[in-house]
Amino acid sequence: MTSPPIETYDDGVIAVDTLMGGMTSVTAGYLLTAPRPALIECGPAKSIDHLIRGLQSLGMDPDDLAYLVLTHIHLDHAGGAGDVAAAFPNATIVVSEVGARHMNEPERLNRSAAMVYGDLYGSVYGGCTPIAADRLLGVADGDTIDLGGGRTLDLLYTPGHAKHHVGVHDSQTGAIFAGDSVGVKLPGMHHIRPATPPADFHLEAALDSLERYRQREPSRIYLAHYGPVDPPDEALAEADDRLRLWAATAEAAYHESSELDHVAETLRQRFQDEVDLAMFDDDPHGQQRVELLSGFESNAAGMIRYFTRRDDGTLTPVG
Ligand SMILES: [Zn+2]
Repeated sequence: MTSPPIETYDDGVIAVDTLMGGMTSVTAGYLLTAPRPALIECGPAKSIDHLIRGLQSLGMDPDDLAYLVLTHIHLDHAGGAGDVAAAFPNATIVVSEVGARHMNEPERLNRSAAMVYGDLYGSVYGGCTPIAADRLLGVADGDTIDLGGGRTLDLLYTPGHAKHHVGVHDSQTGAIFAGDSVGVKLPGMHHIRPATPPADFHLEAALDSLERYRQREPSRIYLAHYGPVDPPDEALAEADDRLRLWAATAEAAYHESSELDHVAETLRQRFQDEVDLAMFDDDPHGQQRVELLSGFESNAAGMIRYFTRRDDGTLTPVG
């Protein structure tokens, strides 16, 4: 089992690469050091042993981890949570109250992921194992976690990418850990790319969530995929611009034809040049990384579902 790359950013922020799918720089887990340390995101179950080894290499004993904070319950963020709970028996698993029960009874989550991911479910993700209810802390907007030593984490309910999404605002560094709510920017990508997957992508909620982050005036934004985007005000403005542009592009295509292939292909033709393909000459995983996290088909499917529900009046407001 490989020990993953580890990078220290701001004071008390250590990124452990989860080596999702055996690839570097796909999904980060962020260890926040404090008397009661917290890990934000753990990556999928399939690659969780790398993450656990990474934490061990940082001197984390089984009793040391106090919290695992999940920004949301998509399996690339939360799939390994049951394994982390087993390896660190004192850790409380913090998750939006909207998604908490799925971590206790993950059968439905795993079933729908297996349908969405197909072969990748077995090779890259793996299923989430159940977490006992007394290990789970369901949180709502404005809840705070005390890491000791004066360090606290504010949980911000930030739906849009998913209805069970929370952002994490760290009092010590002023940084926001944004999960997928700001988008995705991997090595080789010129812009932040929105992540608008099914089943509950919601455009207005996603834009409102970006605005909530702006109001917090964060010192930095950390993406789960992958790393910090600086400066934070420009990153948030770019995320807003790009989300509106992707949505407008998808909507114009959707009015021509609501077929998934048509909308996905329109997005591909418009945006595929924004990834530096030359960079992938030496990196067989380059394109695969981007498609895995924020692929044209997934983004098109999420937006078609959103437009359809909006147009037939079945969209439920969130936030
Ligand atoms: Zn996600």
